[in-house]
Amino acid sequence: MKQSVIRSAEILCVGTELLIGDIVNTNAAYLSRRLAALGIGVYRQSVVGDNSKRLAEDLRSALDRVDLVVTSGGLGPTYDDLTKETAAAVFGREMTLHEASLARIERYFAESGRVMTDNNRKQAMMPEGAAVFPNDYGTAPALALVREDGKTLVMLPGPPRELEPIFREQVEPFLHERCDAILFSRNIHIAGLGESAVENALPKELLDSTNPTLAPYCTAGEVRLRVTAKARDEQGAKALCDAMIDRIQATAVAPYIYGIDIPSPEAALLAALQERCLTVATAESCTGGLIAKRLTDVAGCSAVVAGGAVTYQTREKTAILGVPSELIERCSVVSAEVAEAMARGALDRFATDLAIATTGYAGPGGGTERDPVGTVYIAVATRDTVQSRRLSLSPGRDRAYIRTVAATNAILDAWRLLKK
Ligand code: ATP
Ligand code: MG
Repeated sequence: MKQSVIRSAEILCVGTELLIGDIVNTNAAYLSRRLAALGIGVYRQSVVGDNSKRLAEDLRSALDRVDLVVTSGGLGPTYDDLTKETAAAVFGREMTLHEASLARIERYFAESGRVMTDNNRKQAMMPEGAAVFPNDYGTAPALALVREDGKTLVMLPGPPRELEPIFREQVEPFLHERCDAILFSRNIHIAGLGESAVENALPKELLDSTNPTLAPYCTAGEVRLRVTAKARDEQGAKALCDAMIDRIQATAVAPYIYGIDIPSPEAALLAALQERCLTVATAESCTGGLIAKRLTDVAGCSAVVAGGAVTYQTREKTAILGVPSELIERCSVVSAEVAEAMARGALDRFATDLAIATTGYAGPGGGTERDPVGTVYIAVATRDTVQSRRLSLSPGRDRAYIRTVAATNAILDAWRLLKK
């Protein structure tokens, strides 16, 4: 039989439940990620109901287009589980009893103290010539069929807690032997520069590079640049990624990079605080505790996060943080001066080395002519410096976005101050 290289794949999920929106197709996402990591290009994902005729059509056309088709679902014991039987018909193979699978299924039922019904035997019926992957997590084994021309069909059970380990433990090694490369990615995390500014700052030859490839992703207040390389092994791919990262570090983007393969801005800040054995406190108005929440989301934060205050109403800024009411009256409660005074107040109140403060208009109501909705003053203070800036987001943005981006910027301002 031809042992051709697998370069392209399609994922075909079987289940009427998926079509009517009863369940979310997490298997497709999982399989796409794992196939990409094997260096196999996924060209299509599709869903078909529990219908033999349509499934057969989809299998035939997918096998015409790509080297590998992976299905999920329809391997169970009931009448609507028809993936194997349909595949056997498409491949022109008979269904025969697979003794080893029958023995396993019998053992599975004996061990779990349940009664095995006749239709469970159906799960041990396999198309002739199938490679069978035993299921240690349920009853329906997974299987693969290889056509004379090398085209391959892998069939997996639907439940994710069965599909995922079978794929990882047995199907990946089976496929790996027939893949000529693996993909490896690293992520460069950037803040303070928009997606198009990032693209403008990068030389065209880097953006056009095909190995590694560069792909920017934009999320609230941040840009992630994914660098993905293809090579024979992980070491080779990693070396390609690192060389690309070095070149990016030499561009105008460099000062905006806050980490590589780091999970979040708060993780970057916490790591910087931990390294220096410093503590932090928060004083929040418009972010309403979001910064404190994000800092305390990071495991192990208790060594560096002392506490925080949500001083939403004006008089609490005075009562809790000691912001002079005269200052609030003179400068307005949403101002650089008040943000700085809040940061200094938190520094004293919580006796920390660093404090982060926010005051602004998250909308949809409020704002002034000078400071419309979307304006947030961010201050960060240490024992010997305090600095602030005005963040101006589009007033058309919703409240959640304004608060998230303000929190991200405040966390990264603190991180930058530490890095200085
Ligand atoms: P079983 O032996 O459990 O019947 P099966 O291989 O026949 O497995 P299905 O009957 O198609 O698979 O689906 C069983 C269950 O697996 C579904 O009820 C659902 O909970 C889950 N499932 C199926 N397909 C998917 C999918 N694409 N994404 C996430 N979950 C899925
Ligand atoms: Mg089923």
